[in-house]
Amino acid sequence: MYSKILILYFPPVVAQNAVVCYLTKDYDLLFNILGAKFSTKEDGIMVLEVTGTRENYKRGVRYLKEQGVRVSYAEQEIWRDEDKCTHCGACTAVCPTGALSVKRPEMEIVFDKEKCSVCELCIVTCPSRAMGLFSKNAESILP
Ligand code: SF4
Ligand code: SF4
Repeated sequence: MYSKILILYFPPVVAQNAVVCYLTKDYDLLFNILGAKFSTKEDGIMVLEVTGTRENYKRGVRYLKEQGVRVSYAEQEIWRDEDKCTHCGACTAVCPTGALSVKRPEMEIVFDKEKCSVCELCIVTCPSRAMGLFSKNAESILP
């Protein structure tokens, strides 16, 4: 599964909720509204977490743009839940940048955020679901 946080800007003439509902109906995407601000005069803003296959995600975003919605992407970073991590090492085998590595001789898995490219491979690989995505700017957009 693929998951992204989008920031949507709706012109006043576009019916926000109807447009978003079609993401589920026609594109098999799940969505979670993290926040929204609407006005009759200005563009409405909605912060939306969208989950589905990568292909459906791309089609859904294309659909939104065709409806006149401006789509922006939340700045995201990877975080690790230290309580869930068992230091099994599975993520180090898929991490392409070396952001996840084995510290020897302790055999601890170290996460270096500075090296992370946010490719998300570790999220789908981790058997403990210790790796996740965090949005850095989505919440700050809304009052
Ligand atoms: S795969 Fe998950 S549990 Fe294993 S070391 Fe990596 S983050 Fe920790
Ligand atoms: S998101 Fe990609 S680059 Fe970042 S830690 Fe996970 S596997 Fe490595």
